[in-house]
Amino acid sequence: MGVATEGISMTANLAEDKQNETSAEAERDLDLSPAKGLFCGEIIQSCFWPFPEITNEQKEMLGMVLDSVDRFLEDKQENFRQWDEAGEQPEEFIQGLRDLGLFGLIIPEEHGGIGLSNTGYSRVLQQSSRYDSSVSLTIGAHSSIGMKGLLLFGTDAQKERYLPRLASGEMIAAYCLTESGSGSDAASIRTRATRNSNGGWTLNGEKIWITNGGIADFYTVFARTDSDAGKLSAFIVERDSPGVNIGLKEDKLGIRSSSTTTVSFADVEIPAENLLGEEGKGFKIAMAILNSGRTGLSGGAVGGMKTCIALASKQAVERKQFGSSIAEFGLIKKKIAEMTVDCFAAESAVRMVSHYIDSGYTDYSVEAAISKVFASEAMFRAANESLQIAAGNGFMKEFPYERIMRDSRILTIFEGTSEILRLFIALSGMKYAGVLLQELKSATDDIFNNPIKGFGLLSDYAGRRITHLTSLGQDRIIAAVPEILRDDALVFEKYTLELARMTDVLLRRHGKSIIEKQFALQRAADVVIDLFVGLSVLSRVSAMTPDDSEQYQQALSIAHIFSQRAKRRMNRNLRAMLRNEDEAAKSLAEYIFDKQSYPWDVL
Ligand SMILES: Cc1cc2nc3c(=O)[nH]c(=O)nc-3n(C[C@H](O)[C@H](O)[C@H](O)COP(=O)(O)OP(=O)(O)OC[C@H]3O[C@@H](n4cnc5c(N)ncnc54)[C@H](O)[C@@H]3O)c2cc1C
Repeated sequence: MGVATEGISMTANLAEDKQNETSAEAERDLDLSPAKGLFCGEIIQSCFWPFPEITNEQKEMLGMVLDSVDRFLEDKQENFRQWDEAGEQPEEFIQGLRDLGLFGLIIPEEHGGIGLSNTGYSRVLQQSSRYDSSVSLTIGAHSSIGMKGLLLFGTDAQKERYLPRLASGEMIAAYCLTESGSGSDAASIRTRATRNSNGGWTLNGEKIWITNGGIADFYTVFARTDSDAGKLSAFIVERDSPGVNIGLKEDKLGIRSSSTTTVSFADVEIPAENLLGEEGKGFKIAMAILNSGRTGLSGGAVGGMKTCIALASKQAVERKQFGSSIAEFGLIKKKIAEMTVDCFAAESAVRMVSHYIDSGYTDYSVEAAISKVFASEAMFRAANESLQIAAGNGFMKEFPYERIMRDSRILTIFEGTSEILRLFIALSGMKYAGVLLQELKSATDDIFNNPIKGFGLLSDYAGRRITHLTSLGQDRIIAAVPEILRDDALVFEKYTLELARMTDVLLRRHGKSIIEKQFALQRAADVVIDLFVGLSVLSRVSAMTPDDSEQYQQALSIAHIFSQRAKRRMNRNLRAMLRNEDEAAKSLAEYIFDKQSYPWDVL
């Protein structure tokens, strides 16, 4: 081999090594949780940058679906208003959803669906939510949760049997977990499945508030199985099985035309082949479905915000008071700016989480919870503020504001309340950091005894963490953002380290009893929500082509506004970890629980 070819082959080997390293790095990223990393002081740059893009082919497909959604829904505003009052969607309308293929959005093409990615699916729900939340719920409860268990855990035989009918909408799906005594505490359900001598099961119990309950034919039902100390298992139950009873439709505050009913089971015989996933793994299955489905709900919230921005800005420009358009007033501008920043931020975070799911990340539960909490709360703020801008008109049923506000109220309640998700976000992050702390402690002991062995014992994360806590060799995200946003990037670098330090302090101070410190957990969750959402915003703006256009300049401004406001919120939350009135507040609440009334009436 000559010198030149040797050189080429060496370069090729180096390139191959580099490629192997990069793909090993990419594979390693799939096991990481970028949000949990934040609790350890680490911004895993490769998980946030570059901002995810979908392929041109996917864009084309998605564009066609979005167009058909627009065409089908855009002239139905008056219908949505009437169906809200009537409390149901007519069958012809649901047939229209079937005809458009909207029940097959995430079902693979080989089973008759459209086979959209999580990103594409979330974007479709965003589009339908621009028109009406109940419509999104009929489609979303079917795909996000109703039949998601079948997609994630079903056997080939189960998929072949049900997916084609679910894709066409011949069967509509519902997710049956909640019971009268079991809401947030999902593990406490009492519906029971008893194993029969023929290998099948007999199901007894009642589920409440089931979305699509009245129109579904396919129920994913969670029940306590009598083996293995009564663990939960998941089952596929068909509506026409004897003993399945559907209750009356619930009369609700919002999303009124979406079907919500009880679904009860009286000695329902379930064949052995309808067990979904492994026996005893039902709780895991229930949570995996919710985690994977959250981007549907969050995407819907983003769509709702876009409608609020469009309605409220038009109203503000047209409405005149004190001799000028109310759009001229600072307080109205403030509301529109906040809604816009919130919408851009929620959209960025939801896209990031969908990308993790599409790319095969194995642990995205905390990120999905963050996007759900942020997007659902931002949507409610937007609904409230757009109604406030429309004021008296906003209060009247003739206009859509009051319906949007009623509809958006549910978002922080179902698929995990904001309270439960904040606790989950903080505890998952802290548990992860706590394990690393233990690992760090034993490894650092070893480092002093035997430096080489000691470092060898450190996991990848813990090793990097040492460099972080000593501020050496940190991945710097400021290099990845446009010059003008460097100071904003520094905010997220600084507060990521602050969060890690605070996590250390809290874990050392409270140990396992951190689980009971809900005020502190809420603050930690709020800090990590600001960090994750803010980094998603920075990444998105970094991916934009810099130019003089107003759109680009305003996007820079959004990133700046978000990061500076997040900085103030994070600072407040972290300071309040150490100095607060938590005990006084708890004692006040206990006093009121005791009285069950307000005791300072004046005459
Ligand atoms: C319109 C609608 C549709 C629904 N659709 C479905 C569906 O399709 N399938 C399904 O299975 N379920 C469905 N649900 C149920 C929904 O998921 C539950 O309402 C939700 O999980 C909350 O449970 P809960 O209402 O019993 O509240 P609870 O669990 O009783 O909570 C009450 C309050 O206490 C808070 N809380 C509870 N535990 C804690 C804690 N440990 N620490 C601090 N705060 C706490 C909660 O955040 C909440 O503010 C639906 C509900 C509604 C209203």
